[in-house]
Amino acid sequence: MTAVPFGDFRAHLEPLRAEIDAAIARVLESGWFILGPECEAFERELAAEMGCRDVVAVANGTEAIQLALEAAGLRAGDEVITSPLSAAFTALAIERAGGTPVFADLDPKTLNVDPQAVARAVTPRTRAIVPVHLYGHPADMDPILATAAERGLAVVEDACQAHGARYKGRTVGTLTPLGTHSYYPTKNLGAFGDGGAVLVNDPALLPQLRRLRNGGQSDRYRHEIPGINSRLDEIQAAILRVKLRHLSAATERRRQIAATYGAELAGLGLGLPEEQPYARAVYHLYVVRHPRRDALMADLKVRGIGTLIHYPIPLHLQPVFARLGGRTGDLPVAEAAAAEIFSLPIYPEMSDAQVRAVTTALREALRSLPA
Ligand SMILES: *Cc1c(COP(=O)(O)O)cnc(C)c1O
Repeated sequence: MTAVPFGDFRAHLEPLRAEIDAAIARVLESGWFILGPECEAFERELAAEMGCRDVVAVANGTEAIQLALEAAGLRAGDEVITSPLSAAFTALAIERAGGTPVFADLDPKTLNVDPQAVARAVTPRTRAIVPVHLYGHPADMDPILATAAERGLAVVEDACQAHGARYKGRTVGTLTPLGTHSYYPTKNLGAFGDGGAVLVNDPALLPQLRRLRNGGQSDRYRHEIPGINSRLDEIQAAILRVKLRHLSAATERRRQIAATYGAELAGLGLGLPEEQPYARAVYHLYVVRHPRRDALMADLKVRGIGTLIHYPIPLHLQPVFARLGGRTGDLPVAEAAAAEIFSLPIYPEMSDAQVRAVTTALREALRSLPA
């Protein structure tokens, strides 16, 4: 039996080890640990790779979203429409920026927010939309951007799971004035610790963001606005520069594994992700769907295959957001999805034998489901 853990950091580190060791050593020798030359170089290199004007590296993806919303002019009590199927951090960031999250139901084809549901959720208090490019598949941005233009709303893309994914040929995170990345270790581009970035396409917002991440300082020890401490460590920036050089090859391998899964798992009664005509997905996660999800996951575990659920509780039903008044039945597409989805292992270091082990185990698990 070929075991396939859900993730494998050792396999990830091994081929990069010499480059990473050299990068860390360089920072230690420099004696400069916060907001220095590595961070600046990473910001430049990421902007070139993603095709945006500028980048402001920050401490994590949550604060990237928070600071982007603050820079976009969010005010206390403003409503921000977002997806109910995401890391809870998306909605927590909206609250930290002073906003009230409003969850719009999903497009069942992609499990991204449904542009029509977004349009219906707009009220006179709505100020912004945060679409999430979930699992590495772009949200359908054009109708969302049309609603935003019509109603005068800001849009901040949550591209935390979608580094380098493309919507109609354009890299996500660069379709709006401000987009956001997370470099949490498991993300397609991951630090060995926390990290994040705001992708900046409107140069007018750049100075504000640079201040916001560093206590609101305009000059050293002169604080103009109430910023926070959200700085990227030089060590993480140096590591991210190494990983960025390998990102497009890693993405190709993810897409190859996804194609194999798609071919091998078709016709088995399993809901499979489908890349939409407007999308080039980067498969941060490979999420399948089945009414007997829990039984399948348990069977796969016995067969040595690691799986997880992203995410088991839709955000409108999370205890922390109960005060927003969400009820079971409010968002039927998201609720049905959360009850049926599970994620198969997908990472660039998986061997072909491991990919085959997953599809074989899943076929057998499906065949042996008790009636
Ligand atoms: C990871 C993630 C975040 C939060 O990023 P952190 O770096 O963990 O703060 C936000 N949104 C989505 C969709 C994510 O996957």
